[in-house]
Amino acid sequence: MNKKSCELISDLLPLYADNVCSGESRAVVAEHIAECEDCRRQLKKMNCDIKADPTEDIKTIQRIKKRIFIEKLVIIIISVLFVVGVSFGTLFLLLNTDKTMDYEKYGLSENVWVEQDENGDLWLVRKGLASQAWFIYPDIKDSDGNHIDDEAFDKDKISAFGYTLKQRAIDDFAITESMIDNEERTLLFNMDERAKIDTIYYYDDENDAEYVLWERS
Ligand SMILES: [Zn+2]
Repeated sequence: MNKKSCELISDLLPLYADNVCSGESRAVVAEHIAECEDCRRQLKKMNCDIKADPTEDIKTIQRIKKRIFIEKLVIIIISVLFVVGVSFGTLFLLLNTDKTMDYEKYGLSENVWVEQDENGDLWLVRKGLASQAWFIYPDIKDSDGNHIDDEAFDKDKISAFGYTLKQRAIDDFAITESMIDNEERTLLFNMDERAKIDTIYYYDDENDAEYVLWERS
């Protein structure tokens, strides 16, 4: 070993022993003392065991533990975000999917009708589970039987109004038997002001089925 590099190393040895020199310097020192007896002895004097540096081991273990912790944390965060995302997506679908109320399931034949009061006003009355409808979708029909969305619909021949009760998909879970005593009344229009209208019907648009709720007498 040449003297010059030994001098250089001996400057670095205290730092090496205290484990505070940079990675590059550590490598240079380690390489040197592997071959240089003098410097190795000097390092031993500094009371440092090169073969097993407990400080370094602890640091390594701590570093690995920290990395495992971060990896676990990332997995947990991704999982939570995924679950939250799926939950919100499901809720969004449940809240945004309109379903026509099934005529049989909600007993619409007995729970939905149109009533006329002494002023000639017509009311849509909904009882029981039918009172829990989220929306009442209107429909209009001309005298040829065309619905408002049909191409052949003729607005000069309007003769009937239809109503479709819509629920949100979430209502399948939210509607309970305890709502059976509910009654909701919705003002439709005054029959005298709508002289052309002679029929009001319930329109099951999913099955294209119509049920007459009121007919002009
Ligand atoms: Zn040396």
